[in-house]
Amino acid sequence: MQANSLPEAVNYHLNKNCNFRCKGCYATFDEDPSLRSVMLPREQMFRIVEAVASAPLLTGKTVRKLTFAGGEPTLCPWLPELVAHAKSLGLVTMVVTNGSRCTPDYLRRLAPVLDWLTVSIDSLDEPTNRAMGRHDSKGQPLSADAYARILAEAALLGLRTKINTVVNRLNHCEDISTFIADSGIARWKVLQVMPVEGQNDAHIDLLTVSRAMFDAFVDRHQVRVEAAGIRMVPEPVTSIRGSYAMIDPHGRFFDSSAGSHRYSQPILEVGIEAAFAQVSFDRTAFEERGGSYDFAVDQTPPTSPDIRQIACV
Ligand code: SF4
Repeated sequence: MQANSLPEAVNYHLNKNCNFRCKGCYATFDEDPSLRSVMLPREQMFRIVEAVASAPLLTGKTVRKLTFAGGEPTLCPWLPELVAHAKSLGLVTMVVTNGSRCTPDYLRRLAPVLDWLTVSIDSLDEPTNRAMGRHDSKGQPLSADAYARILAEAALLGLRTKINTVVNRLNHCEDISTFIADSGIARWKVLQVMPVEGQNDAHIDLLTVSRAMFDAFVDRHQVRVEAAGIRMVPEPVTSIRGSYAMIDPHGRFFDSSAGSHRYSQPILEVGIEAAFAQVSFDRTAFEERGGSYDFAVDQTPPTSPDIRQIACV
């Protein structure tokens, strides 16, 4: 297979709708007013998952991971069935969530078919989360205790867990290393907030951090977190742009390598390989940021975090 084949990690942003209003969100998909629907019909989503599963893998690769994101993917009523479908087709499955709807019952529904749960946690400080817009319509963010309980519940159900943290001007001075080290996660992705025209222009001046500020956040956490056996994955803006294969809520590939989203034709109209060829993807950058990490081979048993310890953070 060619180096520009669909990579072994694909993100499917199922929906536009989200119950949070994060100011740095680069997945609002609001820039084209002609595309008002929040997601495709159920049957079309299932066909997109099938297309992802059927696309050839690069020589030497054995499995593909499909990450369901949004918006907030748990707002898609048939997410559990869609994840089950992906799993049945041999994909490694991951859901990225803001955590607000991850009740024990919901996690129990997902657990038999979900390999990885990623929770987006930018701060453990509730006023900071409010300032970032990481809260519900009543202005209520999740507490550190709530985040810890979601991760603990997921680990008890046998899921591998991951945290995504976006470093921005409101949280870059924090030290959450104790929480991360005790959280039981296998992987911690730390991203530098990224300006994307048409997605987060309104607030980006409030949030932008320099590379030095981002690196200082990473340095403050790295030793403690890695000593706990957690794989820390720092991604400055220069590593993010062009290094992800992403599908939007209208079933098109998109990339932001030029600073704003550029979209392919719909996958279900032109086929997955033709659609992917219409966007920019940098295989070298993908590999350099660890995108080729084998999520299926990592069989490290999930650890059970000490909830009492986490709750004291
Ligand atoms: S929770 Fe995620 S999708 Fe929702 S607004 Fe925040 S960053 Fe965007």
